[in-house]
Amino acid sequence: MTVGPLVLVIEDELQIRRFLRTALTTASFRMIEAATGNDGIALAARQQPDLVVLDLGLPDIDGEHVVARIREWSAVPIIVLSARIQESDKVSALDAGADDYLTKPFGVKELLARLRVALRHATSTSSAGPGLFTVGDLRIDIVHRRVHAGEREVHLTPKEFKLVATLVAHAGKVLTHRQLLKAVWGPAHVEESHYLRIYMAQLRHKLERDPTRPRYFLTEAGVGYRLVYESPTPSSTQDAPAGDAATET
Ligand code: CA
Repeated sequence: MTVGPLVLVIEDELQIRRFLRTALTTASFRMIEAATGNDGIALAARQQPDLVVLDLGLPDIDGEHVVARIREWSAVPIIVLSARIQESDKVSALDAGADDYLTKPFGVKELLARLRVALRHATSTSSAGPGLFTVGDLRIDIVHRRVHAGEREVHLTPKEFKLVATLVAHAGKVLTHRQLLKAVWGPAHVEESHYLRIYMAQLRHKLERDPTRPRYFLTEAGVGYRLVYESPTPSSTQDAPAGDAATET
């Protein structure tokens, strides 16, 4: 039997650590845990986990600091947990190098989906991602710069394409406004959030069946945007496709 990925949970609330232990071990992950940021950093260095789940509300040091410390020596995927009141902390943690976030309370399915995406990004090579990306009826050929929505070929402007390509390279993960602006417009424009609003509206208009209810280019309120990685279910997103959890590790 293969050994599951090792997840380090840094979280001061015992109840949440217990919840995570049940969820993770059931899904064949192994879990180690720390209740403070400093213990978590030490454990990350010692055990070299495959993934870190980090609570932002820790008793000793703030989560952004923990992310920055771990990033000094490691590219391990970090998923932050935040309460709703920690909106700005969440964005700081993502900008500091965290890979994704979950807002408390969250469900097991949501947790496992985030972990799978983070692990997939970690195991794929560090190059620009897949040459061909498909989700639902959307087909994006990065190499030949061709985009199809269903049967229809869609022309994108160079900036629009760059935005799409950036999202494709991180498909399934949230990207903050700053990260997207930096990647597409350059470091001098990281505050120009209105660029993103305009371009994202254009993209949705061109690529979404109903631009007012996007299925692929999702808004993460107050944080940024996420390109859906697994094909969305037609109506509700609450039901994961059957066998979903078993197909990929
Ligand atoms: Ca906490």
